[in-house]
Amino acid sequence: MDNSNVKHWDNDHFLHPWEGMATLGKNDRTFIEGASGIHVMNEKGERLIDGPGGMWCTQIGYGREEMAEAMAEQARNLAYFSPFNNSNSTTARFAREIAKRAPGDLNNVFFTTGGSTAVDTAIRFVHFRNNLLGRPEKKKIISRQKAYHGSTFLAASVSGKERDRHWLDKADDLAHFLPDVNPLYRAPGQSEESFLKEKVSDLENAIVALGPENVAAFIAEPVLASGGVIVPPKGYHESCLNICKKYDVLYISDEVVTAFGRLGHWFASETVFGIQPDIVTCAKGMTSGYAPMGAAIISDRLIADVAGKDATFSNGYTYSGHPVSAAAGLKSMEIIEREKLLEHVRRVTPIFQDQLQQLGQIDIVTDVRGMGLMGCVQCSVDGDPQSDLGCDYEIGSQIDIECQKRGLLVRPVINMCVLSPPLIISESEIEQMFDVLRKGLEATSTWLS
Ligand code: PLP
Repeated sequence: MDNSNVKHWDNDHFLHPWEGMATLGKNDRTFIEGASGIHVMNEKGERLIDGPGGMWCTQIGYGREEMAEAMAEQARNLAYFSPFNNSNSTTARFAREIAKRAPGDLNNVFFTTGGSTAVDTAIRFVHFRNNLLGRPEKKKIISRQKAYHGSTFLAASVSGKERDRHWLDKADDLAHFLPDVNPLYRAPGQSEESFLKEKVSDLENAIVALGPENVAAFIAEPVLASGGVIVPPKGYHESCLNICKKYDVLYISDEVVTAFGRLGHWFASETVFGIQPDIVTCAKGMTSGYAPMGAAIISDRLIADVAGKDATFSNGYTYSGHPVSAAAGLKSMEIIEREKLLEHVRRVTPIFQDQLQQLGQIDIVTDVRGMGLMGCVQCSVDGDPQSDLGCDYEIGSQIDIECQKRGLLVRPVINMCVLSPPLIISESEIEQMFDVLRKGLEATSTWLS
């Protein structure tokens, strides 16, 4: 196939997510044309380690023949049928496997097309339940600065990344945002314990100020992912859940990134953070990125409040529970189990986190943080960790350029780059990845000076 024009076609016809208008039609994007294991291949045929794991999603790695087979078999047998009035055995089986692994009584899986629609569904369900319980004013959602929950109108409305809130309209009366939970930005001399108290009080104060009768839910990522891998202070989620219970506010845990192995467990809420949320949203790793899918998993307790009522939860998608995606999800789950990838993640996490910490010695690096196979390197030109996003926009992109020259793809986010490699990454590949990242950071430091 003649690909000589594809860069032009890409610029002329393909509007990308978060398309920057200043560079519209003038981009020189790296084309990824193939992939195997933890590596992707660019259009020049160069192999690069996939640092971001696609976009936090390629758990079992690329090029799995049995995944292709499972999806092809499903496509041959039943490529699609409407989920509205009918069902199919592959999707029903996948729902059961998810329910078996989800925390506590989270047994009700509403399939969506991705993470944004999962968050949308969670919020719509919370509103639906309150309408049926006769309290239509209990609708507000409390979220947090730097949270990312997606790109539908509702999911974007509860997302708190400042830069993304400038250009598009949001349902501003729906959401309330709590201040940054990053312990890096605590007051000078403030202990982590007092910071934790402050952050939990932020939630309680907000509920009281808005009126508990108006607040429907609190939504939180266990670890804020796109916001820069922000790990909240220890005990944060547990304490927030207690506050939510006190005021009859539901807890939505957005596990779009953290579920399906990223922190070494199927779901992080219960096993890592000791909480049983009312609703968990997931996507990404649930099919290892082989097909689009997401889900809002709702507790039996909430379902019991609406079951039997003369009402319809009029929410859903043509592709809810798509059979080919469900086949991919089932096979990915089987591989994660057969290859003991959750145990593997728990075993290699200390190596990954230790290598990450060592990057803190490089002059432009102002903070390194992470959990499981999630990591973030934050940089600054002036070396001040408190100078957050400031004017250091191009640092992340430059790190990516320098790393790509040396065989690693990273995900630049303003002055940060984030890492979430495929879960199959070996110890030696982790070392190799960080070795390249170190060289990329040093080269960026030289470029800046
Ligand atoms: N929630 C979280 C925590 C995410 O990180 C993302 C995407 O990065 C989403 C929701 C939205 O998912 P999607 O892009 O699949 O719609």
